[in-house]
Amino acid sequence: MWPASTPEIEEAVVRVLRSGRWAISGMSTGHGSEERKFGRAFARYIGVEHGIPTASGSSAIVAALTALGIGVGDEVLVPGVVWVACASAVARLGATPILVDLTVDDFAMDPAHASALTGPRTAAILMVHLSSSIADVDELTLLAERHHLVLLEDCSQAHGAVWRGRRVGTFGRAAAFSFQSSKLLTAGEGGIVVTDDDSLADAAQQARADGRRWNNGRVREGFPDLVVGGTTQGHNHCMTEMQAAILTASLPALDEQNAARIEMVTYLEQQLSPIEGVQTVRRRDDPRVDRPTFWHLPVRIDPEAFGGHHVEHVREAVSFAAGLFLEPVGAPLNRNPLYNPQLYRRFTVDHRLELLASGTHLPVCELLARTCLTIPHHALLGGPVLIDRLVEAFVAVQQRARRVRPS
Ligand SMILES: *Cc1c(COP(=O)(O)O)cnc(C)c1O
Repeated sequence: MWPASTPEIEEAVVRVLRSGRWAISGMSTGHGSEERKFGRAFARYIGVEHGIPTASGSSAIVAALTALGIGVGDEVLVPGVVWVACASAVARLGATPILVDLTVDDFAMDPAHASALTGPRTAAILMVHLSSSIADVDELTLLAERHHLVLLEDCSQAHGAVWRGRRVGTFGRAAAFSFQSSKLLTAGEGGIVVTDDDSLADAAQQARADGRRWNNGRVREGFPDLVVGGTTQGHNHCMTEMQAAILTASLPALDEQNAARIEMVTYLEQQLSPIEGVQTVRRRDDPRVDRPTFWHLPVRIDPEAFGGHHVEHVREAVSFAAGLFLEPVGAPLNRNPLYNPQLYRRFTVDHRLELLASGTHLPVCELLARTCLTIPHHALLGGPVLIDRLVEAFVAVQQRARRVRPS
């Protein structure tokens, strides 16, 4: 089951409920806010100075881009297959996401394609660590340096991953994380911006609290914890005290859970290896990855090995047989129904045309969407029994698929 409660989480929620303070914008109880406490704890965990919690991962991206000064006329490089919020957050600020193709073997933004798409209006790269693969941090950092682009990380699918001895979230000017229900660390909803940059942290605070920042003086009980900043226009993207308390209580288990997932992926791959036409897709044998994380583990299905049946049918059949919902790889954003710029009246006609033109050629994204299904991370926390059930489901579906002709 994911998410799963623990006695520590239950205690934390009840404590907050009874405290008389449910939000950072509520009056101080004299004990310091949960929101600030979690911001500090998570920043320490990642290895950066500042953590500014937000209501969601989407609002973390918006707050970070706002703080970084990205806006009208700018282009931001975004992976072509990713959760819609990565592109819609950019578009919401008046900028244009430029959709970049992925590499076929490791399910990560293709640095060569990113470089080819970089032009005079390119202002930033949204470096997303996708699914179960850390982005090519080295190549994208070089590209950003060469063209003076802002590097913003999106670590919403990779809490705790380590690249060359450092956690992801320390490589960009700032990084956004989501704590939505499906993520490796969750409060149901939630997000955070982390950064080492003092002025960026100040701007991100204001972007997430309607222009207000933390009160750094002594706060009296019954008085506000937020004071007027007034140097950045913001919106209300604040996390509640309950969310923050859940996250603080959950954080200590993250590394252990990630280690359990690594162990189970090794076991899963051993068990899958005799099955024809079933292959996990992740950054493999790359010495720069010190610790991978697994969120949605993509698995490539060769339709030929499944009697010519489409991956979507294989995915549904295996899901039912295993009693476990396997997610599809979503359609590339340029033809994804969730990302349709026509449906949002805020965009000017010119901006809408630009949004529609971006990412018309994403052959690898199309290939991945057409051939892969994904295994959710919580299946990796169920121990070998659950993995065995899943592997048996692949075997059973393959046997049947070979007997039944596709319609
Ligand atoms: C989940 C996710 C988001 C959005 O987060 P929400 O908390 O749902 O707003 C953004 N980026 C990536 C890469 C994600 O996986």
